[in-house]
Amino acid sequence: MSFAALEEAVRDARNIAIVGHGKPDSDCIGSVVGTALYLRAVYPDAVVIPLLEDFHEKFGILEGAKEARQELPEGFTPDLLIVCDCSEAYRIGAGSELAEAGIRTVVIDHHATNAGFGDEAVVRPESSSTCEVLFTLMDHEKISKDCAACLYAGIVGDTGVFRHSCTSPATMRVAASLMEYGINAHAIIRATYDLHSFAENQILGAVLSSAVTALDGQVVFGTATRQMMAECGVTPKHLDGIVDHLINVVGVKAAVFMYETEPGVFKASLRSGEEIAVSEAAKAFGGGGHLRAAGCTLAMGAPEARYRLTQVLGSLLKESGGQAK
Ligand code: AMP
Ligand code: MN
Ligand code: MN
Repeated sequence: MSFAALEEAVRDARNIAIVGHGKPDSDCIGSVVGTALYLRAVYPDAVVIPLLEDFHEKFGILEGAKEARQELPEGFTPDLLIVCDCSEAYRIGAGSELAEAGIRTVVIDHHATNAGFGDEAVVRPESSSTCEVLFTLMDHEKISKDCAACLYAGIVGDTGVFRHSCTSPATMRVAASLMEYGINAHAIIRATYDLHSFAENQILGAVLSSAVTALDGQVVFGTATRQMMAECGVTPKHLDGIVDHLINVVGVKAAVFMYETEPGVFKASLRSGEEIAVSEAAKAFGGGGHLRAAGCTLAMGAPEARYRLTQVLGSLLKESGGQAK
């Protein structure tokens, strides 16, 4: 499969909108903006608009990210919608209304829980990231340096800098090819993954020092309430990566980081080691994701959310008998 195979959908389009999931992460930003830069190069007559919710200022290192808008220009009616890194239509962030507008829709994703909505879908759960999928769909001669930087940042984000189990030999080959476009790989990793603000470190410290364990230390919960976030001066886009500190603890088989989005509503990020598929736990609460990285939203108080998640994670741990599914 390639963009050429999607050509009928893409070639005839004049006004293309590209969207991703809400609270965009590196892979979402990299795939939405990378696709826009690529399509502008291949189809210079088309108007291509990447639409994304507000994202972290650190992505300013990606030249292309400056092209992203939160709303379509007035009078712009897309004849093609491309949805990147988004497992279900209801998870689309900026431009979500377009999914209901009967526009021809192409979905490009790597979530195993993506059942393939839209008119055409390329969903590859074996790929580390949507950015990795995209590179295989693109004509490599038409990829610009700025586009390559976007795709590289997305792969770096979803693989945790090539460390998570989703990193395959194919992922490394794609990353190596992207480096050959002259991008500053080191600077992209440092700016989008390693560096944090002082306020981000403060909330990290607050979450870690108030974390609690369950099931003999096999499950750990970290929680950021609205009050904690206000005290540290951070918003949800500054919380990425906290869950990784919770899972990287000896004996922890599943980690949950929850933050309060509105009073009594928590967004939970779940991570696991080898033993269990946290996507199953997330699904039990109407969410989804990958085997070892998933998410869901819980409309209840933090103690009840921890209690109910502990029950579900406990059953998964029991069923797993120590084996990954
Ligand atoms: P996060 O913990 O938000 O970094 O998300 C981890 C993975 O789970 C990502 O691949 C997300 O796209 C996916 N995910 C997070 N929240 C949800 C949700 N409510 N529904 C489906 N997938 C989700
Ligand atoms: Mn994502
Ligand atoms: Mn992704």
